[in-house]
Amino acid sequence: MPQLATNAATMPRSGIRRLMDAAWSLPGPVIGLHVGEPSFGAPAHVLEAARRAYAAGDTHYVPNAGIPALRAELTRKLKARNGLDAEPSQVVVSAGGAQALHLTLSLTVAEGDEVLVPDPGWPNFAMAVQLLQATPVRYPLRTENGFRPDLAELEALVTDRTRAIIVNSPSNPLGTVLPGEDVEALVRFADRHDIWLVSDECYDGLTFGVEHVSPARFDTAGRVLSCFSFSKTYAMTGLRVGYLLAPEHVAETAAKLQEPMIACVNAPAQVAALAALTGPQDAAEAMLAAYRERRDAAVAQLTAAGRAHVYPEGAFYLWLDVRDLCAGDVEAWALDLLRTRGVALAPGTTFGPLGEGGARVSLATDTDGLLEGLARLQVPA
Ligand code: PLP
Repeated sequence: MPQLATNAATMPRSGIRRLMDAAWSLPGPVIGLHVGEPSFGAPAHVLEAARRAYAAGDTHYVPNAGIPALRAELTRKLKARNGLDAEPSQVVVSAGGAQALHLTLSLTVAEGDEVLVPDPGWPNFAMAVQLLQATPVRYPLRTENGFRPDLAELEALVTDRTRAIIVNSPSNPLGTVLPGEDVEALVRFADRHDIWLVSDECYDGLTFGVEHVSPARFDTAGRVLSCFSFSKTYAMTGLRVGYLLAPEHVAETAAKLQEPMIACVNAPAQVAALAALTGPQDAAEAMLAAYRERRDAAVAQLTAAGRAHVYPEGAFYLWLDVRDLCAGDVEAWALDLLRTRGVALAPGTTFGPLGEGGARVSLATDTDGLLEGLARLQVPA
């Protein structure tokens, strides 16, 4: 009997998916606060552009790096929103931010290498590293530090096998946005150790009145590789379009790697992404305003109830302190909460060991469900 590759067989499943399965297996309705899935649909003009592309038979292979018009338009977006000067040749379109990450790590990491990943952090970071037979090394984002990385702790984790650090701001799951000085310090840290800095900026379009600072702004050595996505800003999760921004020689190799990985991204989805950038931004702005209102309503309710939490400045997540409720086993508590009170949220340990005692709530859920779900938490078990 042939054996599965060890790294595939031993990879832990995402805890969010475990909870999703448990939620789906229940007969009754569940208030789902566990998934980062916008409660909105993609803007109408985006869907219309995709529909027209399909109707016109625009369904053939396109270049590995993406359709030229989209790559060109992305350079304008990168300038306007991220303050970055880029040529179209530095942009590679990917199948969502998830594949931009996989592509980036495939470019930079080999078997036995180590990659620094945030704890708590999006579970896919560690999984994507493990998939490449490399080792994720978690760097702490501590409550007492305001969830900012501590450089001394980071320094202590570096070995001669460290190849990259993954930085994610705005953060999933914390909803924090790193201040510019921290972003610059992380780039200088990468400089000191001559490692790659992989920047996941999937939520760059979702900040609530604070500035998102892209690490590539401080890059003088061509070591910052930036992954972006259309999924969250434009509620386009199922269309699967993201992109990588990299120095030209890296982007060239990235385009080459797209061939064995995916060949190219779905052509009508790329046309839809182009429409998202060039068309009216009012739908995206309305979604952002709605997330902000939900943030405010949820924070007001939690504050009134005395529930400790992290004030979300970006992404659409709210990190709760549930140590008093979960008795040291947040995963068991989350499952119990689901079964007894019909509320699904993401247990903190899904995001790393430092997530014990924490839970992530998605603000992407509609306001009534969000507030009702939070109210059901408050009663001690
Ligand atoms: N990066 C982070 C931090 C995320 O939370 C997600 C999705 O939840 C992604 C990347 C990837 O999203 P997608 O592949 O839909 O672009």
